[in-house]
Amino acid sequence: ATPTAVMVATGKGASQGVLIKGGNALENAHKVKTVVFDKTGTLTVGKPAVVSSVLFSEISLEDFCDVTIAAEANSEHPLAKAVVDHAKKLSQKYGHQNKHIIEVKGFEVHPGAGVSIKNGERTILVGNKRLMHLFNVPCTSEVDKYISENEQLARTCVLVAMDGRTVGAYAITDPVKPEAAVVISYLHSMSISSVMVTGDNWATASAIAREVGIQNVFAETDPLGKADKIKELQLRGATVAMVGDGINDSPALAAADVGMAIGAGTDVAIEAADIVLMKSSLEDVITAIDLSRKTMSRIQ
Ligand code: ADP
Ligand code: MG
Repeated sequence: ATPTAVMVATGKGASQGVLIKGGNALENAHKVKTVVFDKTGTLTVGKPAVVSSVLFSEISLEDFCDVTIAAEANSEHPLAKAVVDHAKKLSQKYGHQNKHIIEVKGFEVHPGAGVSIKNGERTILVGNKRLMHLFNVPCTSEVDKYISENEQLARTCVLVAMDGRTVGAYAITDPVKPEAAVVISYLHSMSISSVMVTGDNWATASAIAREVGIQNVFAETDPLGKADKIKELQLRGATVAMVGDGINDSPALAAADVGMAIGAGTDVAIEAADIVLMKSSLEDVITAIDLSRKTMSRIQ
């Protein structure tokens, strides 16, 4: 495309809340054959809420809440906000003060798994089963039962572990965006296929995919695994767009021919992307592709 055509299209995009960072993205977008979507915060609203919580050992409710808040308060992950909100409400309801007596040291993010903090000799973990495996924390059958029951209902479980034991868990729902299904069917009518990649578990991922009409699902993938999926699709000859919102999506956003970040997403994702969807609406995936198609057809 000529510099003028790129400028015109970029300006038009910007006025619609679609920020196109360069000529390359604009030129690639019209060739897109496959759109890969992240799940949490991309296909789903990303405002998850806790619907139940449970204790597995003799930890006090106050400790359970304090530990959760201490570990997750510094996390940017949408699930973190959900559990912190819930833990605060829960402890207020039972008259606790949320003294936050837990000293937070060594806060670490484990992308696609959860977070860990150190409290003296003690390691506190908040995250999924993969996080538990990473730290060699076993899951009892009671824990597994809670997880599988909730995952069938498209809920994500967040586990809390202390001293090498799973002490409790939260079950969380995150509704799909109202436009998700229609955008995916519209892409299909444009001969563009949709794929889901997520760090979340297979059961929850499949339930969400069914809701939005995606058949091709890859779950339990870490950030580099997401990028590998993009490369795999590219090797099969497709021009691939990736739509994501999280730190965990940035390698995939960079690997894609067209990386699209959700505007409400994390700074790292926005930096890694070629296009930013400022309104955080999935309809703008189509806006971006349309803009490219129109620009390129005018030139050729
Ligand atoms: P997605 O790929 O759907 O955006 P992520 O890769 O961000 O999901 O996260 C994958 C999984 O990792 C989550 O479903 C959750 O189980 C776990 N996880 C990641 N970060 C956190 C966190 N801060 N607290 C709890 N769980 C987390
Ligand atoms: Mg996400």
